[in-house]
Amino acid sequence: MHNHHNALRVATELQPAAPVTLVRPDAALDAARFFASAFPGKSFYAVKANPSPHLIETLWEGGIRHFDVASIAEVRLVRGLLPQAVLAFMHPVKAEEAIAEAYHVHGVRIFSLDTHEELAKIVRSCATDGVPAADLTLCVRLKVSSGYSKLSLASKFGIGVADAPALLLAARQAADALGICFHVGSQAMSPAAYADALAFVRAAIVEAGVTVDVIDVGGGFPSRYPGMEPPSLETYFAVIERAYESLPISYSAELWCEPGRALSADYASVLVRVEKRRGEELYINDGAYGSLFDAAHVEWRYPVKLVRADASQAEPMDFAFYGPTCDDMDHMKGPFELPADVKAGDYIEIGQLGAYGQAMRTGFNGFTNGDTVIVTDAPMASLIPMGGEAVVPANVVPLGVAARV
Ligand SMILES: *Cc1c(COP(=O)(O)O)cnc(C)c1O
Repeated sequence: MHNHHNALRVATELQPAAPVTLVRPDAALDAARFFASAFPGKSFYAVKANPSPHLIETLWEGGIRHFDVASIAEVRLVRGLLPQAVLAFMHPVKAEEAIAEAYHVHGVRIFSLDTHEELAKIVRSCATDGVPAADLTLCVRLKVSSGYSKLSLASKFGIGVADAPALLLAARQAADALGICFHVGSQAMSPAAYADALAFVRAAIVEAGVTVDVIDVGGGFPSRYPGMEPPSLETYFAVIERAYESLPISYSAELWCEPGRALSADYASVLVRVEKRRGEELYINDGAYGSLFDAAHVEWRYPVKLVRADASQAEPMDFAFYGPTCDDMDHMKGPFELPADVKAGDYIEIGQLGAYGQAMRTGFNGFTNGDTVIVTDAPMASLIPMGGEAVVPANVVPLGVAARV
């Protein structure tokens, strides 16, 4: 990968006709160091947010030693890059072949589950010559509310509090270490999400009367986007630690988390070119089938910046984007705020696409990704403290969308 100073240098020097991914290893290092030092437990990077090998290695360099993987391909990827990493296979519905390969070939010992059937599958797949494995950490996934989050994860996985005690007791029999995990939904806008979920955890532990060794609060830690201004991550950590310490669990218990977005959002932005302007609509060369899936399908807003050598003097106005494919659904409503004189041929940097941007790109209609280059300037927005102060871009407007703590 080549090094450039910033988006403007890339636009000037390469004049790229395809979208260029701009990666910021320093931002990923900051995020990794922050979680490794400030979270009061172990941080597992949720690989699905961005499986880039360069990012995974950078997070390792920043002190992340644990990885949350959800498919056998992610298990193989991380194990191939990092022989020493601890992997947790946290998809509650796995293929038996995937469990067996993860356990017997790649040394995975941590698995999640939310049914008795999955428990039986794990026990069967990890046995050797009919002898059950004695070194499993089994995490029962509880269903919790996604009420504070921008993207719900509440309907697909998780066992309800009423049914959890029986599954916890059964998993306890098969496990060396027993854990409870949950996911409050992605981009949780208030730490109260974790406090509420941990109240469910407490109820399940008391009802089951089991010894629990691991509390895994999952992902959901936010990043900063236009119109979404969460409290500091330290506030989340403090609320989690307080609730965790009041749980009836063993003295040697561990606290874990699985940040995806918070560890990867700042890592990448995308440099796109405007191919056409129609009033307030800009036709750009990346879109819903590229790195802007969430912008199209859940109307996610990303920070944007016009990339021109001579800064525009025009007033800002709101734009919507069309992506490059022939599909009407390749539309990003925004609004994205840019100077009123944006025109065809201009370049725009779209920020915070390190999480769930590159990861969801397809090759539909022949529009694939262009180059990936390293840039050395600061990310367009960040919730990660850098030198004490988080970066707030000019076009991120705090709207007070969630309860502040
Ligand atoms: C997606 C996912 C994560 C990461 O979620 P973020 O909101 O990106 O932090 C963590 N754990 C599990 C089980 C997931 O499915």
